[in-house]
Amino acid sequence: MANVQVAVRVRPLSKRENAEGSSIIVQVDDKVASIRNIKLDSRLDSPGNARERKIEFTFDYCYWSVDPDSANFAPQELVYQDLGTSVLSGAIEGYNVCLFAYGQTGSGKTYTMMGTPASVGLTPRICKGLFSRVDDYQEKPTSCRIEVSFLEIYNERVRDLLKRCDGNKPYTLRVREHPDKGPYVQGLSQHLVSDYKQLIELLEEGNSNRITAATHIHDASSRSHAIFTIHYTQAILESHLPSEIVSKINLVDLAGSERADPNFCKDRITEGSNINKSLVTLGIVISTLAQNSQMSTSCQSINSMVSEGDSGSHSSAYSGSSRRQCYVPYRDSVLTWLLKDSLGGNSKTIMIATISPASTSYSETISTLRYAAHAK
Ligand code: ADP
Ligand code: MG
Repeated sequence: MANVQVAVRVRPLSKRENAEGSSIIVQVDDKVASIRNIKLDSRLDSPGNARERKIEFTFDYCYWSVDPDSANFAPQELVYQDLGTSVLSGAIEGYNVCLFAYGQTGSGKTYTMMGTPASVGLTPRICKGLFSRVDDYQEKPTSCRIEVSFLEIYNERVRDLLKRCDGNKPYTLRVREHPDKGPYVQGLSQHLVSDYKQLIELLEEGNSNRITAATHIHDASSRSHAIFTIHYTQAILESHLPSEIVSKINLVDLAGSERADPNFCKDRITEGSNINKSLVTLGIVISTLAQNSQMSTSCQSINSMVSEGDSGSHSSAYSGSSRRQCYVPYRDSVLTWLLKDSLGGNSKTIMIATISPASTSYSETISTLRYAAHAK
């Protein structure tokens, strides 16, 4: 699997969009998602210009979940088979993995990550998959440990979703940096789990703590990033010596990507600019990492070509190219800083951009498609 993979998923028209008489302006065809340029609709009157009227983007996967009767309909299981299983195999091979859902509020991030009781999403499916692999392992001389944590970043502050203070208030925690281990959240609760049921109970507890917060602050869950992290430790015997492979799976339901309304009060604007800053930083971090990894792949292939003829130039060719690696601005947001060791380096990143197919969401949808396309 490539280090960065990007998918897009189109949800069905909502009741409201149907009532407003919105038309469907998005299409997917294999890996290409296209959107009708409705700004041109009013200006271009030559009917032969159909191509110009479409803006196309190519992704690793495009999922059409608009109508269940269409031939290319993508149910939750298909999204899991493509993306969820690659999260699992990455973690089992020892990579840290991040899976992000990005998109405007109401576009299907939570549906894709968590799902509904009738239509289970990626996170519970990944948890189930992990335990079924663990059960397979019990036969082999390998043992493993699964611990989870669940936090929310709201206005650049971190809250533990699995630990409450007296009076059921959320804990606000500090981000620190360990000289060797890197950034971490001081005092974040970690929960050892031994089966799928325990894990799902924690997931539900954390989600309900997100929802409780929403009654205090208007719709807080769409204005915060939620990170569910599974720490997966495999103890192995390597030529009779015990050793451990530690990997982290970060499943992230990002804050809504919509622009802050300039008519909002000051608090909402600060909140909006924090969200915007962290999403912009995330986009820059992912695309820089993708560029850097392409650079080192191409420089490795240059090296192998060079070293075939002249092994002496190997190290100079590599260091020459690695000097051009771009700076990655992890520290520009709490989100990217916390995920630093799960982005880049020994890690895999998957982004799923969720969009509405409706003409009324044109501006937000095109901005999501541009963001996702830029991440590659
Ligand atoms: P977000 O988390 O991005 O704000 P939600 O996941 O809550 O959005 O989705 C908004 C609504 O659309 C929900 O009622 C959800 O069930 C529905 N929905 C979203 N994506 C899909 C999909 N792929 N298939 C069916 N319904 C969906
Ligand atoms: Mg949501």
